[in-house]
Amino acid sequence: MENPRPIEPKEAGKKKKLEVDEGPRRVMCMVLSIDTSNFCYRVLSICERTLPEEAKACCNFCTFRTGLDPGSKRLFRLLLKVTTFTEILEVICFDRSARVLFGRSADEFLDFLKLNPNAAVTADEILERDSFEMTLSKPKMGNARHFRAVLVKPMRSCFGSVMDTLRQLHRVRLSSSQVLCLCEIQFPCV
Ligand SMILES: [Zn+2]
Repeated sequence: MENPRPIEPKEAGKKKKLEVDEGPRRVMCMVLSIDTSNFCYRVLSICERTLPEEAKACCNFCTFRTGLDPGSKRLFRLLLKVTTFTEILEVICFDRSARVLFGRSADEFLDFLKLNPNAAVTADEILERDSFEMTLSKPKMGNARHFRAVLVKPMRSCFGSVMDTLRQLHRVRLSSSQVLCLCEIQFPCV
């Protein structure tokens, strides 16, 4: 059997570069900020097709398949600025990754936000300076700028999600007028 043609050094270099550039990479990073101005989008609740903000939630396919009117829900699309040891990156977290950070659905966070308008700023403060291990994939679309966090893992074993910390803070505020520093709640293990 004929040996396969050896890869030319130039070609091998090109292949290696592609692998390095295109494959997902795992990084340890610290959150610098999150963009809470536009953190979710509306979808049909069954097939999760994107819906314009004001559009009526109807889908013939879902209605035909399930006999129900699908209704709508929201999914996270959260933009984070993170720093690794060597660079600052803009990272986008879609629903699965963002739920690791928030601990609840985008709808639950939005409901909490309606009653507590400052919760967006507090959410940013909760995540700021916290460290995560993230698996980042390069944008597939040529014009997409941000890395996509396909996997997010908190570095602290006692990590408390944004929603748990918000609820805890809220309870503390309700039950006492005492001013409690955020870090006392956020880092009980330190
Ligand atoms: Zn549908």
